Amino acid sequence: MAKIIDGKMISQQIKDELKEKAAKLKEQGKTGALAVIQVGEDPASSVYVRNKKNACAYIGIESLAYELPNETTEAELLALIDELNGKSQVKGILVQLPLPGHISEDAVIRAISPKKDVDGFHPQSVGAMTIGEPGFLSCTPAGIIQLLKRSGVEIAGKHCVIIGRSNIVGKPMALLMLRENATVTITHSKTSNLQEICRQADILIVAMGRPQFIGAEYVKEGAVVIDVGIHRDANKKLCGDVKYTEVEPIASAITPVPGGVGPMTIAMLMNNCVQSIEEG
Ligand code: NAP
Repeated sequence: MAKIIDGKMISQQIKDELKEKAAKLKEQGKTGALAVIQVGEDPASSVYVRNKKNACAYIGIESLAYELPNETTEAELLALIDELNGKSQVKGILVQLPLPGHISEDAVIRAISPKKDVDGFHPQSVGAMTIGEPGFLSCTPAGIIQLLKRSGVEIAGKHCVIIGRSNIVGKPMALLMLRENATVTITHSKTSNLQEICRQADILIVAMGRPQFIGAEYVKEGAVVIDVGIHRDANKKLCGDVKYTEVEPIASAITPVPGGVGPMTIAMLMNNCVQSIEEG
């Protein structure tokens, strides 16, 4: 029986710590707002944006909502980001992805000042993380590090296998695990012997975006399994990239979906916002 890594509980702990910290900063006269920009009306994005605004309210940070129509041009969006970059009270700028096809996500990410890049996607933030300099960390991978640490999982010296090499999960995850002194293997869709490599993992982090792909045959007895995937199954129930019921009996610890990695992403976004307010 695996220990269930409870992301809901751990994210709540983090949000409560941040609420206290934000209140102390306020006493010192340090406040600030998170600007949340959404272009278009993608229903999933609307849910994410609403959750982010609610998290700000809980922690005691002001949030400024910019809901722009789908026809917004790239130039208009870049002009808004430029304006927000210049506002001293705005400490974080978040543009909800994905953006409509006529707007370059790359251009938008680069337009956000690295000082306000609370998603940690700007090349300067990624570079700073790579060489271990201070800066905002990408929220989902940083959340997974917190999940592991706060669940008492030892990382140093362990073999961590990551499935996926995206810029928002797989790559930054590998760098953060390396920073924690794990031995890291990154796998992807062109990897041969995926199963054999995964079976060597002490910690298996699955971020492949393939519903219930990873079964027991990919997992070593006693491994820690972190499931980043989020999907809806045929019955519209949330599920991950891992076949949970099959893997749970052989893992030593596992994250459920929902209630594992998901809630950590917003908690770490709030962490970045509070860090930005603290740094002024
Ligand atoms: P992505 O950009 O689609 O990347 C998927 C990665 O998995 C790619 O590197 C791909 O390899 C690799 N892959 C795909 N099929 C594979 C296979 N059969 N064998 C080995 N590797 C394979 O996805 P992402 O943005 O990283 O997200 C991954 C999952 O996490 C999605 O389900 C997403 O919804 C979820 N997610 C959750 C959170 C959260 O807060 N919980 C946050 C972000 C993402 P190639 O590079 O070779 O194509």
